[in-house]
Amino acid sequence: MVSTEFELSVGLEVHAELLTLSKMFCGCPNEFGGEPNTRVCPVCLGLPGSLPVINRQAVEHVLKTALALNCSIAMRSMFHRKNYFYPDLPKGYQISQYEETNPIGYRGWIEIPLADGATKTVRIRRVHLEEDTGKLMHLPGGGSGVDFNRAGVPLMEIVTDFPPDVKSAEEARSYLQELRLILLYLGVCDGRMEQGSFRCEPNISIAPPGAETLGTKVELKNLGSFKAVALGIEYERSRMESALARGETLHQETRGWDESAEISYPMRRKEGESDYRYFTDPDLPPLAFDEETIERVRASLPELPGEKRRRYRESLGLGEYDANLLVADPEWAAYFDEAVSAGGDAKLVCNWMNSDFARLLNESGQRPRTSKVTPERLAELVGLIQADQITGKIAKEVFDTMFATGDAPGKIVSEKGLSQIADAGELAAIVADVLSANPDAVEKYKSGKAGVLGFLVGQVMQKTRGRANPQVVNNLLVEKLTE
Ligand code: ZN
Ligand code: MN
Repeated sequence: MVSTEFELSVGLEVHAELLTLSKMFCGCPNEFGGEPNTRVCPVCLGLPGSLPVINRQAVEHVLKTALALNCSIAMRSMFHRKNYFYPDLPKGYQISQYEETNPIGYRGWIEIPLADGATKTVRIRRVHLEEDTGKLMHLPGGGSGVDFNRAGVPLMEIVTDFPPDVKSAEEARSYLQELRLILLYLGVCDGRMEQGSFRCEPNISIAPPGAETLGTKVELKNLGSFKAVALGIEYERSRMESALARGETLHQETRGWDESAEISYPMRRKEGESDYRYFTDPDLPPLAFDEETIERVRASLPELPGEKRRRYRESLGLGEYDANLLVADPEWAAYFDEAVSAGGDAKLVCNWMNSDFARLLNESGQRPRTSKVTPERLAELVGLIQADQITGKIAKEVFDTMFATGDAPGKIVSEKGLSQIADAGELAAIVADVLSANPDAVEKYKSGKAGVLGFLVGQVMQKTRGRANPQVVNNLLVEKLTE
């Protein structure tokens, strides 16, 4: 039911739980799961008389993120109370940050990769700091319970600017993947969508192209994966288009996504902002930043995914596909960087990583860092191939052994006697043997069937267990056959 009659607009609100030791305003551990209501105290339970203390690490994480997202920084940033009633909110309000230029970061942008290899700039409206709520759960014996272990966990909210730059489900997915990757590179969030530490709520609207205002928006919740985000947005687009085609009026509402049925269902009609009665939290001092701190944090930012991809392509000569594959996993990219610093040729290191190494890691369920192959060893193997000390075929055998034992490639080559035979004198005798054992092939070659050359090279390779230099063998054969 894809129609071109309407233009889609998608605003994206992301909530990312921050990687800190303790919660946002108390000393309770910030960890996922656990026996319900075992990581709580008077502060995160909102008991009368308790007072919040700001988590410095959380503030630094948000500052770092805001800078990575090219935001302006509020030199003075307040906390506000967002008041609403819900059983998972023990205080009756959420500590958050309100207003246009008060959030720690505001008016930023990121570049997202598009399918055709181009990039698109998506503007960011705000990056602010708040706290997570508890979790409602169905009890095994019936009824509902609430677990406050998550209440007060530091939460960063990142919202795209208005009107939305994101115009399709694919762009939404790309934005979220890029944002998640940036947070992983910064080390501020573990990005586990399935555990809810990286949550996304798109608001979706459709309007005729060129319309002055956007259509009625619907906010979608419970999207547990990137795939769900893309499916959910497409579903909403069709649902709204059909409703309009039937002459119905759309309502501004919040809808949930049913992952198994792949449909959305109504949850509630949306509250307006004024319903929250925002006001400054009297228990918390404003955050004050100075230029020196901001510049120190800016200087400490790691190389981000966009810059990394560009460097891999432009300075190291990798293809777009390979660069994307490496950058998609920070651990993988760090491994690659180390192997290249250790002297490994970038293209060869990349080829080994994205083929044999990736396959063996997959099969054995290991991570690169827990495997026995260090970046230095991989660089050494690549060096042996480049120096013509081993053939490509033998290198595979060496790699397999190295993966199993962790031995240095040079050691494996000398112990197993795998070094390449490039000496023409040594190979000439083997070539002569092969020619006299295959008179038919020799005849064919002489009668013009040059294709049998490959067969003869193969025979020499077999006799040398893959150690012969193929180019030298080739030259020797042609020489003998045309004598
Ligand atoms: Zn607590
Ligand atoms: Mn929020």
